Amino acid sequence: MRGLAFRDQLTGLFSRHYLTDYLEQKMRETGDESHIVLALCDIDDFKAINDVRGHQSGDIAIVCIADILDDLAGNHPVIRWGGEELLIVLSSMPEHEALRLCNRMREEVAAYRIDDGAGEFSCTLTFGLSSFDPGLTFAENFVLVDRALYHGKETGKNRCTFAQPEASSEQR
Ligand code: GH3
Ligand code: MG
Ligand code: MG
Repeated sequence: MRGLAFRDQLTGLFSRHYLTDYLEQKMRETGDESHIVLALCDIDDFKAINDVRGHQSGDIAIVCIADILDDLAGNHPVIRWGGEELLIVLSSMPEHEALRLCNRMREEVAAYRIDDGAGEFSCTLTFGLSSFDPGLTFAENFVLVDRALYHGKETGKNRCTFAQPEASSEQR
């Protein structure tokens, strides 16, 4: 039953309540040095999908995208952070590998044809990534990953951006 409380009903992904426990457990297991990358993604122009095809088609798209990301993430948890925002916690993974994995997720989602019964369509994702800094609070870490995502949205969407200490650099 405890497991169910941590699951999102629509997608079966973890819900955001799961995150604090998971991060604490990872820090305990591997120590503060362990490298954790947070990856936050948001579906591009999703309002238009709801407006044109309807809310149910939007739901179908979220479920398809959640399945693709969950498959590719393996043991790393994919969390339904908000409506159409998903957070992936990549522990013990160097930054370049995290970026490569997110780019693979991005490409697979873009190539996937979603079928809502009335026809097929596709969606793209924008990712922000940031290395978790154990010296900061989760909220402070989240600001960094959210800013990287915002930068990707501002610079054309359908891309992965790693947060840099000073400025964000785009690495599509
Ligand atoms: P952007 O590329 O900037 O992300 O544009 P966007 O249109 O995707 O804008 P934004 O991310 O702000 O909007 C998200 C929309 O997703 C708004 C909301 O109505 C819709 N949404 C949120 N949760 C759900 C859901 O569970 N199902 C459906 N169908 N729509 C949802
Ligand atoms: Mg959004
Ligand atoms: Mg969006």
